[in-house]
Amino acid sequence: MSQESFIICDNLVKIYKVAQLEVVALQGLDLTVARGELLGVVGASGSGKSTLMNIVGGLDRPTAGRVWVNNQDLLKMSDLALDHYRRAQVGFVWQQTARNLIPYLSAEENVELPMTLAGTVRGKRKRAQMLLETVGLTRRRRHALSQLSGGEQQRVAIAVALANAPRMLLADEPTGEVDTETALTIYAAFRRLNTELGVTTLIVSHDPGIARHVDRVVAIRDGKLAAETMRQTKTERVNGDGDEAAAEAEEEEVFEELLVLDSAGRLQIPKHLLEEYGFQGRARIEVHEDGVLIRPAMRQGDERAASAAVDELAERKRRSGLLGRLLHRGH
Ligand code: ADP
Ligand code: MG
Repeated sequence: MSQESFIICDNLVKIYKVAQLEVVALQGLDLTVARGELLGVVGASGSGKSTLMNIVGGLDRPTAGRVWVNNQDLLKMSDLALDHYRRAQVGFVWQQTARNLIPYLSAEENVELPMTLAGTVRGKRKRAQMLLETVGLTRRRRHALSQLSGGEQQRVAIAVALANAPRMLLADEPTGEVDTETALTIYAAFRRLNTELGVTTLIVSHDPGIARHVDRVVAIRDGKLAAETMRQTKTERVNGDGDEAAAEAEEEEVFEELLVLDSAGRLQIPKHLLEEYGFQGRARIEVHEDGVLIRPAMRQGDERAASAAVDELAERKRRSGLLGRLLHRGH
C-alpha cells in the first residue's frame, strides 16, 4: 500500500438483502484516491455511489472486499472504533445537509456547534471564521441561517462538516438541489478547502460538468468503476491537430475519458461502441505494434458470410487496381 494513497478500495462488494431479494449495489469495485485529491464520482441513479460513500465513511460495511482509509483497515475496526473513526475523521455533506443546520443560529454559531459538542473550548470562533472565509461567507457570517440563500446554506454546511478538522470530506450530491450558477459557488468552496486545507474530498454528482471542478472523475456503472476522466494538459492536445484545433485547445480545457482496467484485467466497453460495432457476447483481440485491437466476434455462420464479403471487397479493389494500372500503362 503506497503512502500516497489515502483511500484504497479493493474488490468491494455490497449486497443488500431485502426480504427474499438480493440487491448487488457494488460488485467488485476498485478505487484508489491519493492523499489530498479532489475526486468527482459520477454515475446513474442506483449505480452504487452512495453505497461507496457510506462504506468509505464508515456508515456501512461491505459484504466482501477490503477498504483502507489513511492506512487504517476499516474492516478490522470494531463497531465502536468505526464509530469513532466516522466522528473524528470524516466530514459528510449531503444533498440536504443545510436542512439539518439550526435556522435561528448564525452561520458562525452553526459552525461552532460541532466543536462545542466535541468538547473544544478554545479557538472555536477563530476556526469558524477561517472556514467561513474559505467558503466565501465572511460577510454573511453573522446572518441567521434562515436569512441565507440555498447555496450559501450549503456552503455553511460544508464549513460545519469541517468544523472538527476531519481529514476527508465526503459529499453526496451536494449540488443536487441547486441551479448551475449556485453549483459553481459550491464547487469553488470545495476547491478552496481542498487546496488550502489539503482535505481529501470525494464529490458525488449527477453532473458530468463536474470534471471542470475536480482533479479527476471516476464513473461508476452497475457497482463497478467503468471509466475515468483526466484533465489533459493543453499542449498535449495541440499536436498536429491543425490551427483550428490548436486555437480551440488554447481556449478550453480538454478532458479525456479513460477506461478503467480492474485488477482482474476486465474493462467495460462503452455502450455506444458496443452498439455501433455490433459487439455481442464475444470479442476478438488482435495484437498490433502499438496496442491491441478489440473486434466484435460474430457467430460462426455470420463470420463466414462477413469474411466472404471482406474477400469480395478485397478482390474488387484488387481488380480495379489492376484495371487502373492497365489503363495507366495504356496511356
Ligand atoms: P446511487 O447513490 O448511485 O444512486 P445507491 O448506492 O444508493 O446508488 O444504490 C445502489 C443500489 O443498491 C440500488 O439498486 C439501491 O436500490 C440499492 N440499495 C441502496 N441502499 C439500500 C438499502 N439500504 N437496502 C436495500 N437496497 C439498497
Ligand atoms: Mg445516491
